[in-house]
Amino acid sequence: MTAVFWFRRDLRLADNQGLLAAFSYAKSTGDNEVAAVYFYSPLAYQNLEGIRQHSLTESIRALNTSMQDQLNVAAAATSSELAEKLIAIANKTKTNRVFAMRLFDPEGIRQQNAVQKALSENGCTLELIGSGYAIEPGTVVKPDGTTYRVYTPFYKSWVQLLSETPMKKPAGSFSWLTIPKMKEIPKPEKPSPIKVIAGEAFALRTLQRFRKRALASYDENRNRADLSGTSHLSHALAHGEIHPRTILAGLGDSPAEEVFRKEIAWREFYADVLFHYPQTLTDYYEPKFKQLRYDTGKSAQSRFEAWCRGETGYPMVDAGMRQLVTTGWMHNRVRMIVASFLVKDLHLEWTQGAAFFEAHLSDYDPASNSHGWQWTAGCGTDASPYYRIFNPILQGLKFDPNGDYVRKYIPELSHIAGAAVHEPWEIFEGYQNGYPERIVDHNIERNESLARLEELKNLSK
Ligand SMILES: Cc1cc2nc3c(=O)[nH]c(=O)nc-3n(C[C@H](O)[C@H](O)[C@H](O)COP(=O)(O)OP(=O)(O)OC[C@H]3O[C@@H](n4cnc5c(N)ncnc54)[C@H](O)[C@@H]3O)c2cc1C
Repeated sequence: MTAVFWFRRDLRLADNQGLLAAFSYAKSTGDNEVAAVYFYSPLAYQNLEGIRQHSLTESIRALNTSMQDQLNVAAAATSSELAEKLIAIANKTKTNRVFAMRLFDPEGIRQQNAVQKALSENGCTLELIGSGYAIEPGTVVKPDGTTYRVYTPFYKSWVQLLSETPMKKPAGSFSWLTIPKMKEIPKPEKPSPIKVIAGEAFALRTLQRFRKRALASYDENRNRADLSGTSHLSHALAHGEIHPRTILAGLGDSPAEEVFRKEIAWREFYADVLFHYPQTLTDYYEPKFKQLRYDTGKSAQSRFEAWCRGETGYPMVDAGMRQLVTTGWMHNRVRMIVASFLVKDLHLEWTQGAAFFEAHLSDYDPASNSHGWQWTAGCGTDASPYYRIFNPILQGLKFDPNGDYVRKYIPELSHIAGAAVHEPWEIFEGYQNGYPERIVDHNIERNESLARLEELKNLSK
């Protein structure tokens, strides 16, 4: 008998537990054959922005290339169509065993439950093995068995559980089985402003480059928007081109390595939180913040659009938004600055910003995005006092001290040298190249935000 392996958000061959299980099953039957398939939803693909279409297609193409063109790819509009196609493949290849990784976000769980049910009604089994995490969501619990709501104690338990070493690629004599007419690799319909490079081999090269060039100073440089001080592995992690086990393996205990391990753990923490509180994908983790007074209507909409275009008049915010739209990625520090600005200076709901990020981030991850937003908005898992408000000017001066990041993304400000670029209103020729004036006054909006918080406190008394 062969086995069927369904690739999901694990577009790699190495360190893939589910894939190894499929091979080991096929081997145990004496056949050594695996039919591997990837499905995509045509509608969801169509709705992606250009960068995300290119980024997904490149990941699929790279996987297919690494399998000598033997990846089966098919469109499936719904979970039931996906299950039907899996059953057809199983019948064609004379097996009843399908293997896949387990997902932990609400959509992934809904899909795997529906497919599992449909398969079992047709005499097939779906075995969910492995995950995209070093420690599977739901595993890290307090001594009393309850779940963590705060990151630091989560991390302390999580790090104790780390033990697994990376797994190898399937090896030995085996063959991939291809199914006729299953080569529907989606073609991007929209242009991408950048050439996207993706895939497992690229992810491993990215990791090596990071280890060599930036890891040793990660603790010092990771917050600097103007330096390439971080790993840039988020796209690869989101598509499963690399497993966190591979990234964590060989990390030592230097301060920089410890800080990096902690960042990987943030991704795992948020996945755990979303697993336990699935409604928080789009709903408030702290429900009382739903009642906070947010701005709506025409002028709120036009401010939101200025934020999306990177035309708020605050250089650090605008540089971040332009980096997002033109590259599909934004520096973590700047993600926090633009998110804080949307919620606390423009008084808009975090969900609006999160949806814009989802459309444009090529590393989009449901848990990290929703909870990164909620943490910054102050309605999430942040253990600090609620009213952290980022000052976009001071943040710019601190994390882009020479102004290089701002000048890179905002050509209208390229004539201003040094840190002065963060305050074009202080310079006579600041606006000579058409950079927009500030759409709001940060100091006024900061106070307004605090006043609305007081209102909320009084409501809950
Ligand atoms: C509002 C907001 C939205 C975000 N949306 C996403 C998202 O959709 N997808 C996503 O992968 N990350 C998201 N993040 C987290 C973080 O910004 C990115 O993971 C990071 O910038 C990716 O760059 P890197 O790979 O160079 O990170 P590095 O600094 O090299 O970190 C290594 C890895 O650790 C993880 N990580 C680092 N910081 C965080 C963090 N704060 N939260 C969760 N995981 C983290 C990522 O997987 C990252 O690739 C968001 C953060 C905020 C504030």
